[in-house]
Amino acid sequence: CVRTRVAPSPTGDPHVGTAFIALFNLCFARQHKGEFILRVEDTDQARSTPESEKMIMDSLRWLGLDWSEGPDKGGEYGPYRQSERRDIYDTHIKQLLDDDHAFHCFCSNERLDEIRSHQQENKLAQGYDGHCMGLSKEEVAAKLEAGEPHVVRMKVPREGTCTFSDMLRGEIDIDWQQVDMQILMKGDGMPTYHLANVVDDHLMKITHVIRGEEWISSAPKHQLLYKYFGWDMPELCHLPLLRNPDKSKLSKRKNPTSISYYERMGFLPEALVNYLGRMGWSMPDEREKFTLDEMVEHFDISRVSLGGPIFDQEKLSWLNGTWIREDLSTEQFAERLKNWALNSDYLMQFAEMAQGRVDRLSDVAPISSFMLSGMLEVSEADFEHKKLEKDDVRKLLQFIVWKLEAQRDWCKDSIFNDVKTLSKQMGHKMGDFMFPIFVAIAGTPNSWSVMDSMAILGPDMSRARLRHALN
Ligand code: ATP
Ligand code: GLU
Repeated sequence: CVRTRVAPSPTGDPHVGTAFIALFNLCFARQHKGEFILRVEDTDQARSTPESEKMIMDSLRWLGLDWSEGPDKGGEYGPYRQSERRDIYDTHIKQLLDDDHAFHCFCSNERLDEIRSHQQENKLAQGYDGHCMGLSKEEVAAKLEAGEPHVVRMKVPREGTCTFSDMLRGEIDIDWQQVDMQILMKGDGMPTYHLANVVDDHLMKITHVIRGEEWISSAPKHQLLYKYFGWDMPELCHLPLLRNPDKSKLSKRKNPTSISYYERMGFLPEALVNYLGRMGWSMPDEREKFTLDEMVEHFDISRVSLGGPIFDQEKLSWLNGTWIREDLSTEQFAERLKNWALNSDYLMQFAEMAQGRVDRLSDVAPISSFMLSGMLEVSEADFEHKKLEKDDVRKLLQFIVWKLEAQRDWCKDSIFNDVKTLSKQMGHKMGDFMFPIFVAIAGTPNSWSVMDSMAILGPDMSRARLRHALN
């Protein structure tokens, strides 16, 4: 039975790339009457957060890319969150050490830095030099006994070529020399992605690993681990990465990458799924518009083309428009609007602020339309200010974007603190400093507290408007 998975790391916003990979895994599994599962790869404890995990799951659900086994649903092969599977990885690391396929490494960061600069200076292949492989059993035991900090690395042949097969690309050869003696267990006792991913794919009976092409270079390590454990390797399929219109890898600096942004902008989930389905794939009859079910019905992974598909918001908007105009009845359209933002939960968030500023109910729409909009029409002239030069405004907006991009706790107080700190650092009065932020977020300096507005609009829309103002 075919089993596929999407395995996001909950370290940030829910990425459209994750939805893209999930979609192709789901189609492949459903088409073969198999299972599509969700596994949370949260071994990077410093960067993983429960909030990010929740956002990723909510976003995938919003898109209708539902899984049959996962942390929220359970299943026969759980737990489906890697942080809850440490015992399993410990056992497997022990097995690799016992079989002499892995070794303890006690090298300090300073030593590793030295190797790196030496290799760079002499244009040598990068990677660990195998120093600790030379330690005797007794030496290793003594160091462990003394509690010396260490990691566990896998042994990798230094000669020859690794050959593996990719469903789309055929045979791929990579010289073993280019493959590093990968750390499998970190100093904190947590496994790295490579070990956890291989162990879990095997134990969860994954038959096809469909993932982004940035993992091709990791395939030799994975193949070797399967061999060390004596397991069959699943079929591999590396999908092309989504690209910005200028062909670079899709990045938030050039294109919003968070699914929440697209939801907030008022894209329909079926249109976004349709658009992602057209990224590198097409229906046999080349039709532009199709549902998820239709995609499953006609899915053929060999029709994926390897040229990097361009994720273009303009095209997505066009497609979304056709869905809105052609596929929703007026009742459904009104219902969607209500669910999107014309609902009392959302209105209540700024009702009090609007109420304090109006004489008639009809005065509400003009002063609060920015709460229901996407990108605002603002011109350079709107940012003119008697105390701020043009360059100051740009610099200020750029710095606040960077600052707010790092803000993980999105609420009025944290935003306020960020703004206050930065205005001090940049030597502007708070009032002057706030001016361009008001214009970027609300379209005018005469609005209610822009901290409240940003808190309500959410991180994606707020950052996108600030970035938009920079263009
Ligand atoms: P950014 O450069 O915008 O910060 P990132 O590469 O850091 O993005 P990650 O958080 O590392 O993004 O990736 C989240 C998930 O999205 C991963 O599963 C990754 O494979 C996938 N992903 C990231 N970028 C792309 C892309 N351009 N195309 C397809 N999938 C992608
Ligand atoms: N956790 C990895 C990621 O976020 C999974 C890669 C894989 O599918 O093997 O991209």
